[in-house]
Amino acid sequence: MTAAPVLAAPPAAERRARRIPRRAANTRPLWNLAAIVVIWATSLVVVAVWVAGGELQSLLAGGADSLNSLGRAAGLASANLLFFQVLLMARVPLFERGFGRDGITRMHRIVGFWSFALLLAHIGLQILGYAVQAGLNPLEQAWQFVADYPGMLLATAGTGLLLLVVVTSVRKARKRLRYESWHLLHLYGYLGVGLAIPHMLWTGADFTVSPAATAYWWAMWGVTLATVIVFRLGMPLTRSLRHGIRVRAVEPDGRSGVSVRMTGRRIDALKARGGQFFVWRFLDGPGWTRGHPFSLAADPADGELVISARLVGDGTRRLAALRPGTRVLIEGPYGTMTADERRGGHLLMIGAGAGVAPLVAILEEGDWAPGEATLIVRDHAAADALRSEAIARLVRERGLRHAPLPGPRALTTSSWLPTSHAQWSGSDLIRYVSPHTAATDVFLCGPQPWMDAVRTDLRRAGVSADRIHLEAFAV
Ligand SMILES: Cc1cc2nc3c(=O)[nH]c(=O)nc-3n(C[C@H](O)[C@H](O)[C@H](O)COP(=O)(O)OP(=O)(O)OC[C@H]3O[C@@H](n4cnc5c(N)ncnc54)[C@H](O)[C@@H]3O)c2cc1C
Repeated sequence: MTAAPVLAAPPAAERRARRIPRRAANTRPLWNLAAIVVIWATSLVVVAVWVAGGELQSLLAGGADSLNSLGRAAGLASANLLFFQVLLMARVPLFERGFGRDGITRMHRIVGFWSFALLLAHIGLQILGYAVQAGLNPLEQAWQFVADYPGMLLATAGTGLLLLVVVTSVRKARKRLRYESWHLLHLYGYLGVGLAIPHMLWTGADFTVSPAATAYWWAMWGVTLATVIVFRLGMPLTRSLRHGIRVRAVEPDGRSGVSVRMTGRRIDALKARGGQFFVWRFLDGPGWTRGHPFSLAADPADGELVISARLVGDGTRRLAALRPGTRVLIEGPYGTMTADERRGGHLLMIGAGAGVAPLVAILEEGDWAPGEATLIVRDHAAADALRSEAIARLVRERGLRHAPLPGPRALTTSSWLPTSHAQWSGSDLIRYVSPHTAATDVFLCGPQPWMDAVRTDLRRAGVSADRIHLEAFAV
């Protein structure tokens, strides 16, 4: 590889005494376990309510009674999961810290799949059950439900909206849609849940079978609604007003990037860390409601919030036209990829494109000795590199080892490398650049497929899974 940009490590004697942040215990498995326990426990409560309503006898009776009783159980379990679906995406800080954004997204997908599958089972079984009972064909029965039963027209509209959300979230469809369109459709999911509620109260005897059942469902609705109002609206608004964030300066960053510097009151009270991200809304005119996530690109301890973005579409191009003084609404900080994840020893940062921004912030904030940290940066062309000045400063003042790898993607061995290094295997290159692989924390940031390829080579190079810390720039 081109060795010039990588500095030789200075002698050990030169290393200054330092504090390595003590890594908080990895609590993610505990959070995941807690979530599974809570979801199953509440599902059992729902089944208990169903049994208390005499549904077990109906289930065993056979024929239409069995179909109806099973259909009601599916509906109740689906409604219960829908609450968790909404709660997971309410951006509750405790959940964001506990599960991490990728963990939440994964769980949201699994819970969403089951909730929707149970919803379909509920609809199918109820139509069949009632059709058998009334001696109608299922289509006639379905029409009768919609036309004659209270709340069913709204519930049908709600189901249609939820169907839209599910269909547009299937990977293939998701790729074809603009993010804005997909996001807007996704928000209709809230409306879908809301529209389904009246039919539960008006036709679902299981909701009112006992005071305990009624209390449970009202409590779930209340908590879910309050959580969304507090964390998706109230908290971002009060935080934005309290800190009064405004744009201070906008500067070009590389050939196709821009950096935005922002200030405000008591930035330290945000307790943001290098490596975290906010969802930003710049009040610069129509379209400001569309929030975009950007990571902090510099250590926020200096009282300034800096982001660095690659100009890829309308949202990022707007950044280049921002004027100093523009007000900014913030949601966050989010994300768990911070220096706290470090376990000690060497640091290897690997970023692609804009993914270098949070890595620079972590490096600026972190404690490491000269020669102890290495930064590998992938870009399509050297002129595209973001944060070049900040990186040069880290090389000059703190002894960062910098290995830029510009160029088009190699098509042969490791797909995350450029063609100039196509003769290398990714794992050999990692071991060459950062030989202490067993005692190295690796921070990784870039597009998901690129990160997957790097991750595979890191594991081959001997880096243990719990030392790989990453953030994907994707939702
Ligand atoms: C946690 C996180 C941190 C990020 N940090 C940075 C960063 O520091 N610097 C940087 O340049 N980019 C970052 N991104 C990516 C950045 O959010 C998108 O590039 C940007 O929103 C694109 O908007 P656009 O309208 O310019 O582009 P579009 O052409 O609309 O979209 C380009 C790509 O960005 C995705 N995207 C668009 N809008 C959003 C949105 N509101 N939320 C999530 N994804 C969206 C689209 O799905 C598409 O894949 C980050 C993304 C995430 C999820």
